Parts: sequence; C-alpha cells; structure tokens
Amino acid sequence: MTTKPKSPIWHPFTQHALQEKITKIVRGDGAYLHTADGRRIIDAISSWWVVTHGHCHPHIVSAIQEQAGKLNQIIFAGYTHEPAEELAAQLLKLVPDGLEHVFFSDSGSASEEVALKMAVGYWHNIGKPRRCIVVMQHSYHGDTIGAMSVGARGVFNAPYAPLLFDVTSIPFPVSGREQATLDALESACQNDMPAAFIVEPLILGAGGMLMYPAWVLREMKRICEASDVFFIADEVMTGWGRTGSLFACEQADVIPDIACYSKGLTGGALPLAVTLCRADIFDAHYSTDRTRTFFHSSSYTANPVACAAAKANLDLWHDPETHQRVASVGTMQEEALEVLRADPRFENVRRTGTIAALDLKASDEGYLAELGPKLQASFKQRNLLLRPLGNTIYVMPPYCVTAADLDQIYGSITDAAAALT
Ligand SMILES: *Cc1c(COP(=O)(O)O)cnc(C)c1O
Repeated sequence: MTTKPKSPIWHPFTQHALQEKITKIVRGDGAYLHTADGRRIIDAISSWWVVTHGHCHPHIVSAIQEQAGKLNQIIFAGYTHEPAEELAAQLLKLVPDGLEHVFFSDSGSASEEVALKMAVGYWHNIGKPRRCIVVMQHSYHGDTIGAMSVGARGVFNAPYAPLLFDVTSIPFPVSGREQATLDALESACQNDMPAAFIVEPLILGAGGMLMYPAWVLREMKRICEASDVFFIADEVMTGWGRTGSLFACEQADVIPDIACYSKGLTGGALPLAVTLCRADIFDAHYSTDRTRTFFHSSSYTANPVACAAAKANLDLWHDPETHQRVASVGTMQEEALEVLRADPRFENVRRTGTIAALDLKASDEGYLAELGPKLQASFKQRNLLLRPLGNTIYVMPPYCVTAADLDQIYGSITDAAAALT
C-alpha cells in the first residue's frame, strides 16, 4: 500500500491506495484543461460527460455572472423566479410533445429518484398501487439507493445489496438477439404489473457504452404503452446532442411518459437536473387532499444561477452552428474509427452520434480489468483525459473539439494499444 494521501479529500470512484497522483486543474477553456504544473490536457470525455459546448463557454459564463449578482438562491416551495420560469417554458418547446410538467432537482441520480417516485406515486394516487420496476441489464441510473436499485448489480454496489429493492430485469438487446429483449419486456409487462420501465435510450453509458438501434427503443415503448406501463427515458447522458439529435428518443419517434435530463443541461457548468412528465402524472397528484402532494425536494431545487446557466445552454441550441458542430464531431469520429475497424487489437468498434467506443482485446474483461488503470495512466502521461470502462475505451468530447485534437486522441489510443497488448 502507498502512503496515505496528504489531502483529506475523499474522491469519487477512486481507490486512494492505488491512485498514483491526483491531478490539480486550475483552468478550463474549450476542450482543454490546464494543470497547476503548466500542462494542457485534452478533455476527451467532457469531464465525465457533462461539458457539451466546451469549458467556460462565454455565453454560459456571463449568464451565471449576471444571475449570481441578482438572486442566487431562493426556496422553491411557494416561490418561483424568472430563470426557472423561462427555462421551463423553453424546455417544453424543445422536448418531445406530450411532456408537460417540469420538476427540478440537482443531479442525474436525483432526477431518477423523482421519476420513480412520480410513477409509483401515480399508481398509488389513482388507487391501483403498483411497485415493480422493469430495468435493462447493464443499466446505470446513478449512485443513490433507488438509482442503484434500478441499475446493474455488481462490484459498484455489492456492499449495499441488502438495501436495494428488487426489480425485474430484461436482457440488453444484443445485435441479432433483440427479440429476446422485447419478449422479456412483454412478459414482464403482462405478468408483473410494473409501475414503470426505465431505460437509457440508444446507449447504455456506464454499462460500457453499449449501443442498440432506434427500432428497438420504439418497440419497447410500444410494448409499455400496450400494457399501460410508464416508459421512463433516462436521457441524463444521452441528452443534449450526444447521440446526434438533441435527445436520443427523437431518433425513435418515442415520446417518453417521464424523461430525465441533467449533465449537459447547463452545458456542464453547474449541477441541475429536470424530470419531465405527462399531464396525467401531475394530475394524479393535483388535489385539495394534502396527502397527494408530491413530497420531494432538495435544498437547491431550481437554483436560479443553475437555471440561468441552463437557459444560456438552450440559447446555444437555437444556434444552427451548435447542430453543425454535433454533426461534424460525428463525422470526424467516424473517420477516426474507420481506421481502427481494421485493427486486429480492437473489437466492437462502434459509434452513436458524437460518442465513439471500442474494446481493446484483453484476456480479463469488465470494469476491474487490470488493463483499465494501465490505459488510464498511459493516457494521463500523454496529457489526455480518457477514462476507459475496463477494456472499453470511449471518446465523448465537447463539441468544440478539433480534428487535430481527435488525431492526438486516437494516436494515443493506438500507441497505448501497441504498448499494452
Ligand atoms: C451520470 C448518469 C446518471 C447520474 O447522474 P449524476 O448527476 O451523476 O447523479 C444517471 N443516469 C445516467 C444514464 C448517467 O449517465
């Protein structure tokens, strides 16, 4: 074991006894991070999937500065404010038609908890209680107890397994075996009387950047609809252009009953999340009977500065240039992958929109594969922020990334593969 770190800070998803050194960042601009010791790092994973337009985007920064001097926090029960009102109105214009109410929270995990509570609360309030939740194998929905319960079980949550509630799990729609997924969903919907099915549309992120086609998403929605089971779209990662469209559900013409957005909601500048729902879910809670209140809140619900940042992000999505950048990142990623498809050291070379992923062939696989930390260390040495999921390497850059940046990223990936295999 190494000597204990000097800092009292306990970092997330970090084994301090194995982590060589924690890098100190002093400044971010665009796709780059600047370290305390004067290096420039390319942020190839958008600082854990949140930074969409680049670090410190001037339009978002100035919106934050302006709001911070006006009103920077206010209780959101019984009070409201302009940034939240404007953001909600603008959001409803962008999301699939049919989502009519907006509930604010401050993280992706919280937005999932809210979604589950909305669904179960609906069935309770209409007097037909349902509690079962159907989930997809390999899913990730966050690290709070409820979010872990509906996510994949494994090394991340084994110690807490006794606290997690039971769910019905359907297989991931592996290419060629999609029907098994649809059959399992249909049978769960018919036999278990589920309150909801929760799923990450088109890509399962933390589960290993596992991709599936839009037609499967559409079929899953159809099956849920036929059995009156709420369809919860977890767009926390897939939202805000990642999959090529503003939201992944658009590609399948799916209107979710409940949708969760976070990460890129503020362009990655401040923590904020929303859970959107259909009118009937709100209506089931709308009553002069106080017991039907939606009992959920966090101290910083709809923080005005975070809402102002999100409003500024929405402004950027009204600019055609943002959409052009998303398309061009997709094209550049595809070109880079083209070369690697022929490389025998890699397999499952894949892309959805701006997200590219590939697996380095290895004898041990999975998140704790020895290869993961070695890869990460080698990328760190090359001034690259990449964080493979086991032997799965993925590139999810901010949309301001350049062709030269991507050259450097993919050059380092092939170098690392050469050194480690
Ligand atoms: C990151 C993520 C979450 C959790 O969001 P936090 O803000 O980290 O709590 C939930 N769902 C998906 C799909 C995610 O990628």
